[in-house]
Amino acid sequence: MRWEFWVAVCLWPGLAQGAARPASAADVAREVREVSLDAGECYRVRDLVLPKDEARLFFTDGYLIFAKPVAGVRMSAVFTTDVEGGDAEVLMLPPNRGERRSLASYTGAPILNEHLMAAVLIFSDDTYPKLMEQIQKNEANQRVPEMGAIMAEHWTGPVRNIGASFQTRLVWDLLLGEPQGHGFFAASISGRKLGNFDLYYDRNAREQIVIGKLNMRDNHLFFDVWTSFVSRSFRNRPVDQELALDGFRIEATLKPDLNLSVVTRVKAKGGATPLPVLAFDIAHPMRISAVLVDGKPAEVLQRESMRAELLRNVGNEMFVVVPPAPLQPGREYELEFRHEGKVIFDAGNHVYYVGARANWFPNVGLQFAKYDLTFRYPKDLDLVTAGELVEEHEEGDLRVTRRRTSAPIRIAGFNLGQYERVRLKRNGYTLEVCANRAIEPALESKRAEMVEAMPGARQHEPEIMIMPPELSPDPEVRLQEIASEIASALEFMAARFGPPALPTLTVAPVPGRFGQGFPGLIYLSTMSYLAPQSKAIRSLDAHGRLFFSDILQAHETAHQWWGNVVTSAGYHDEWLMEALADYSALLYLENKNGAQPVAMALDSYKSNLLQTVNGKTVESTGPIVLGMRLETSKAPTAYYSITYGKGSWIMHMLRRRMGDDRFLAMLAGLRKEYERKALSTEQFRLLASRFLPPQSADPQLEDFFDQWVYGTGIPSLKLNYSVKAKGGALRLTGAVTQNDVDSDFSVLAPVEIQLGHGKTLTRWVRTGEGPAAFSWTLPSAPVKVQLDPNFSVLRR
Ligand SMILES: [Zn+2]
Repeated sequence: MRWEFWVAVCLWPGLAQGAARPASAADVAREVREVSLDAGECYRVRDLVLPKDEARLFFTDGYLIFAKPVAGVRMSAVFTTDVEGGDAEVLMLPPNRGERRSLASYTGAPILNEHLMAAVLIFSDDTYPKLMEQIQKNEANQRVPEMGAIMAEHWTGPVRNIGASFQTRLVWDLLLGEPQGHGFFAASISGRKLGNFDLYYDRNAREQIVIGKLNMRDNHLFFDVWTSFVSRSFRNRPVDQELALDGFRIEATLKPDLNLSVVTRVKAKGGATPLPVLAFDIAHPMRISAVLVDGKPAEVLQRESMRAELLRNVGNEMFVVVPPAPLQPGREYELEFRHEGKVIFDAGNHVYYVGARANWFPNVGLQFAKYDLTFRYPKDLDLVTAGELVEEHEEGDLRVTRRRTSAPIRIAGFNLGQYERVRLKRNGYTLEVCANRAIEPALESKRAEMVEAMPGARQHEPEIMIMPPELSPDPEVRLQEIASEIASALEFMAARFGPPALPTLTVAPVPGRFGQGFPGLIYLSTMSYLAPQSKAIRSLDAHGRLFFSDILQAHETAHQWWGNVVTSAGYHDEWLMEALADYSALLYLENKNGAQPVAMALDSYKSNLLQTVNGKTVESTGPIVLGMRLETSKAPTAYYSITYGKGSWIMHMLRRRMGDDRFLAMLAGLRKEYERKALSTEQFRLLASRFLPPQSADPQLEDFFDQWVYGTGIPSLKLNYSVKAKGGALRLTGAVTQNDVDSDFSVLAPVEIQLGHGKTLTRWVRTGEGPAAFSWTLPSAPVKVQLDPNFSVLRR
């Protein structure tokens, strides 16, 4: 599962208290939408430079026209090279090897150096004064109103179109005032060689510079991120404090047409300075009808924006709230949101699909908070959500269920249907597993529609499957089976990792080929409810059968720890949660069924990684730390194959380096040290290195991480050796040779020497360019010498 928002929404310190505020948010938004270019503000320009940390735009020779002011501020411009010998250029050098490699994989060069024909600029930062200062300094820069009229006519449409994508953001910046400290800059560039691409410089994002391109593949729109990084002036700078939210009280009523009408109340505390404007995330279909701050109405502005949403990469929409007075630092406020929308879809036969599972109510990032959840819904349905049951009763045709979480959680989901339920108690934990009473009908067209309609589902989850209308021979038996299976997994993991996110875990079905593990609530693919002997399961390959019958539920159970107790610091670290969850599932299966299923899963992951797209392996798409940036138009399956498959392999290789006991001790240590904390890849490396056996080679795991985590490549390895007796001593000499990887590739590979009578020696050899030679003295003649017999290295 995935839930990390790429661009975290945090709040800036705003206007000083009492400063004049422009017109209402709605008025400003209308001005943004209706902006037009200003024929009187068109210039013939030469040698303008626009630096944005690592990125630099040079308007060498051409025309520049500004838009008319919005609420008194100029926020867009167009540059073209439509003159004899006209020229402009964008230059950018990413700050590290990984980003240079990423850029090169799209553009063919590790540096961006592109001549351009035109650029549409949208900005709320200091771009306008910076350009005007240069224009006025040089007499050669002349005002050209007649060209301005032509450009205004031609370019006003594109400017409105692109600007509309950032409408909410521009309004937010305008209302905050003082945009220089935190503003935003977007250039939609028409390059001579690279075609159209976008450059963003957003002082409010976690990574300020993003360059990428919108691409279509198989009717899906991708924003391929060429490079994205923390820009020069933001390195080593503390992150602005977010609006802290806690104590959610949510009351939701499900209407017969499946619209969900919600009142969300939450306690909010601001940062270090007064906040005149607040920004929140919510799923697209949810419309906010009112917001109250301490009972007083606030203005709310909400709008969809495709380009900005793609950048944010979730089915989320940003909306802004203007409180009646700025929120004062240190004071606690109660915010109340009224919102309604269709986030539930009917798949037929009382089978439902909850679309916005994580973002059906307003939130700021994903913060740990306590929840008190009340749902009113038709009483012929069952509804499940996170937390301990407080009360359940009927009111006319409705059933009312109230649950409260006993510990802070980051996401509160719900699910509904007509369920059969099984309840189990194990070691103080309560498990409730729900199954649909019927199977959704096989309506292909309907499902295709659903996938399109569901925010977040299109790009982030495998497609909704076409389910054959076939009930397993005995659904009761299968339900009991799944329940005892998940209970065993929960018990196995709790014994090794410590307590899960919440003491009660509910499992309920979701029509689709995926699962999602929220705190206290697992969405499990309806496929997993089918009996292993059912036709739909039998039609899958061996790994597919293993996946739906065993791995998926154990993987989602493991997310109760990895993702819900320990969380990831950002999108670069999200792989850790998936790799830990997947490998924990494999550990459980190994404990239950022996080593064979684990070997099969790892083997299948490897073959997915070695599949080729345009002559390149899927694995070579990029290092695992690129996270969701691996989901590109180049290789749409790369994100899954690398995050889950290579991620599991990385955990497996660490286990082999540590040994089983130390590896399990590391998992327990991780759970303890990072309880309700965010884990970064580097923190994980340091923690893991503490669990290596004494005197290990690569004691800080720097080489291991450079190769497998920050790099790409899957080698093939070959062992040659001979045994010679010399002067009474036995010597084993030989070499390990690697192929199919770059010359700088290097791994530690184990050579196992069986000496007879059950005695075995393992020596690790570091591979590199050319054969890696070794020569060891042996106490007795070897019975067998093998390279990596326990698949300790991901290799061909
Ligand atoms: Zn997962």
